[in-house]
Amino acid sequence: MDYLSYCSKCPASVHCCTHHPEDGFVAVGIKNAERIREETGKEFSEFLDYSKLPDEMIKVCREDFEGSEGKLRASMLVGGRILRLKVKPNYECIFLDSEKKCSIYPIRPNICSIYPYWYKKETGEREGEIKIIRHDEDPECAVSINNHPKINFPEAEKSMLIEVAKKIEEEIEYCKKYLKEFVEKNKLMS
Ligand code: SF4
Ligand code: SF4
Repeated sequence: MDYLSYCSKCPASVHCCTHHPEDGFVAVGIKNAERIREETGKEFSEFLDYSKLPDEMIKVCREDFEGSEGKLRASMLVGGRILRLKVKPNYECIFLDSEKKCSIYPIRPNICSIYPYWYKKETGEREGEIKIIRHDEDPECAVSINNHPKINFPEAEKSMLIEVAKKIEEEIEYCKKYLKEFVEKNKLMS
């Protein structure tokens, strides 16, 4: 059984597309956001949230994780804010449809494409090489490393996941340069 078999049965309250603001969010880079706007015709303000994060979440974003998710969060965190997808009043992602499916699946943010895996950069002899790893522990997720340490690794998807990891790295660098300009131009500060 691979991870998708578990995900298809995941209850809405646990599903990784559902986040209480104090527990998590879906970070989105500028290029991902531009593509979503182009393809859906929605304005940035309809799907992007750039409000200040709860204090506890800001602390989490500053923590150092083994994987690069921490690096992504830390690099995008400016003044307690991170560009992320809006959630509905029930905390589901704004793009999760009534059947609990992603309504923008082909153009979903990179962070969604790589989940439930993540990556880290090798050190030493393999300095900088991207290694796909399991996501950090999540007590409720059926496929998280603590619940299913031996779940099948999708070898066939490995090169695709590495390409997504590279895109995340590019987004980090792009956001470092242009995020301030982007949020000002699109009046996303609230
Ligand atoms: S990755 Fe985990 S939380 Fe997300 S849908 Fe799959 S089983 Fe559910
Ligand atoms: S964009 Fe799609 S995959 Fe990503 S959190 Fe939202 S509904 Fe889930």
